[in-house]
Order: sequence, then C-alpha cells, then structure tokens
Amino acid sequence: MSKEKKVIFSEEKCKGCQLCTTVCPVKIISMSERINSHGYHPAEVKDQEACLACGQCAIICPDVVIKVMKPE
Ligand code: SF4
Ligand code: SF4
Repeated sequence: MSKEKKVIFSEEKCKGCQLCTTVCPVKIISMSERINSHGYHPAEVKDQEACLACGQCAIICPDVVIKVMKPE
C-alpha cells in the first residue's frame, strides 16, 4: 500500500481560517497543534490514506496553501 502523501500543506502560508476543513468530503483535515511563524495553527491531514484527492480543499483555500497529488 502506498504511503505517499496525497495532500501537502505549505504550513508557513496557512492563516488558519479553517475553510478547508469545511469542504473535505471525508473530514480528514484538522488544525495542527503546531504554530507557524505567523502565529497560526496550520491545517493538516494525518490520515493521508483516506484522502480522495478530490482537490476541494485546494480549490477553496484563499492562500494557495494546499497541493493535491492526483494518482497517476
Ligand atoms: S483532496 Fe479532498 S479528500 Fe483529500 S484532504 Fe482535500 S478535500 Fe479532503
Ligand atoms: S483554507 Fe488554506 S489558509 Fe485556510 S486553514 Fe485551510 S490551508 Fe489554511
């Protein structure tokens, strides 16, 4: 089984608005306990296996934080 990440967050660009958490059909996006250098808790996906690579999170993010890797 592939352990490759399907969704990647540029944590330093995240403003913690949580918009991405509202659109994920499988509700796997949560806010990290880490704090980035701008003082925000960045969004993250821990269960990469569950990601559908639908791209909804990347589309809604106003700060272009999220990159979704579509399966070949
Ligand atoms: S690509 Fe889709 S399934 Fe994966 S984290 Fe983003 S919204 Fe959720
Ligand atoms: S929508 Fe973008 S800026 Fe907002 S919490 Fe998600 S990744 Fe961060």
